[in-house]
Amino acid sequence: MLETPLALTRRARRMNRVLAETYPDAHCELDFDNAFELLVVTVLSAQTTDKRVNTVRPTLFAAYPDARSMAAAERETLESIVGPLGFFRAKTESLLKLSAALVADHNGEVPGRLEDLVKLPGVGRKTANVVLGNAFDVPGITVDTHFGRLVRRFGWTEETDPVKVEFAIAEVFPKNDWTMLSHHVIWHGRRCCHAKKPACGACPLASICPSYGEGPTDHETAAKLLRTEGPN
Ligand code: SF4
Repeated sequence: MLETPLALTRRARRMNRVLAETYPDAHCELDFDNAFELLVVTVLSAQTTDKRVNTVRPTLFAAYPDARSMAAAERETLESIVGPLGFFRAKTESLLKLSAALVADHNGEVPGRLEDLVKLPGVGRKTANVVLGNAFDVPGITVDTHFGRLVRRFGWTEETDPVKVEFAIAEVFPKNDWTMLSHHVIWHGRRCCHAKKPACGACPLASICPSYGEGPTDHETAAKLLRTEGPN
């Protein structure tokens, strides 16, 4: 039977409540002290893990605590700091362009509006929403690979384009829930609802998830798939 929009909204909000109870301490897994750091580490987290980014962060911001110092960085030195993250040339280039744009267009500060953030080089809606939600307390939905996969499994949307996913989910949840919703869903994706083998048999959403059975349903087998900490 086709689910009505109202039934979908109710089920989706119930699932989010279960996730909130399951992951009461869900938060952005990238370490940061201010908006500049969060913007930079989010850009660096592409194609690598949050954990790895967290390991280079102290050296990076000790050397370049703000946009002005990073914009003036020696390319080779910056490359050697971000080297452990892979793609070091491209990542260095991104950071140099990003910090130069912050200096040129925003007096070295990170802007707190989506329309300004997405104009910065290398900053898309995903990065902008991470920064808004976690550094500015402006609600944002972060559609990363986990979020997209899970909301489709949850039957909340069939959209595959990240921007369309963002808009579809924004219809289902009140604005104030957006940032924490993103954390809950991403944490669940990292710990339980994996891309390859979701741990359905040990999942707190098993009774209300339409994709139950996509992974092992035997509790013992599924429990072994759970991770206490996300790998990425
Ligand atoms: S029941 Fe399975 S597919 Fe559904 S959320 Fe849980 S792990 Fe993911």
